[in-house]
Amino acid sequence: MVPGARLVVLGKQGAGKGTQCVRLSHHYVVPHVSTGDMLRAAVKSGSALGEKVRQVMDRGELLGDDLIMEMVADRLSEPDCRARGFVLDGCPRTINQAQALAALLSPGDVDLVVDIEVPTAQVLRRLAGRRVCVDCGANYSVTSPPKVNWTCDVCGGEVVQREDDTEEAISRRLDIYEKQTAPLITWYTERGQLARVNGVGSPDAVLRRIIRAVEDRREGSSGVAARRS
Ligand SMILES: [Zn+2]
Repeated sequence: MVPGARLVVLGKQGAGKGTQCVRLSHHYVVPHVSTGDMLRAAVKSGSALGEKVRQVMDRGELLGDDLIMEMVADRLSEPDCRARGFVLDGCPRTINQAQALAALLSPGDVDLVVDIEVPTAQVLRRLAGRRVCVDCGANYSVTSPPKVNWTCDVCGGEVVQREDDTEEAISRRLDIYEKQTAPLITWYTERGQLARVNGVGSPDAVLRRIIRAVEDRREGSSGVAARRS
């Protein structure tokens, strides 16, 4: 049986983070814990937490670390996460959150923090090529357009570039991400918990690299434990 794992996955938009999180959750048989999915589900359900989230978003404010960590702590305390671990996606975003996560898992810790690295120019090209149907939301791209003249294959709607998918807007989002994430990368690097993984190539190839990094980490830490004992 494959042992479980406690993983945090970082990566800029367009780096294939979501895809790899799903694959990792299947490989290690652990839940994919996505804060984005949880927030959307909470808002939809109209729960007390969802109502809080909706109010913050309606005011155009960012969700506080406390609220995010409360939600993550709840999820990680459920039996599936406790038994085998998790693939955490979307958290931590700040050093405060990383510290709260470490406290939450103490005396244990995450097995590895994986940073999926893809050159910005490549991500930019991929994201700027996206096109979407205004009616049904079907996804296309400049390299795989609808069959007829930017008319949706599914519903016949108009297929366009989203306003926030222009190169300029994407560049701005990527810049913000790097500025926000840089301190976190440093923090995890200093703790010896970060693995940088090359995110260029097929999803299968990238998954293999991540699994290799996790296995290397496990062998490394059991080696340390063996030498100590
Ligand atoms: Zn459509």
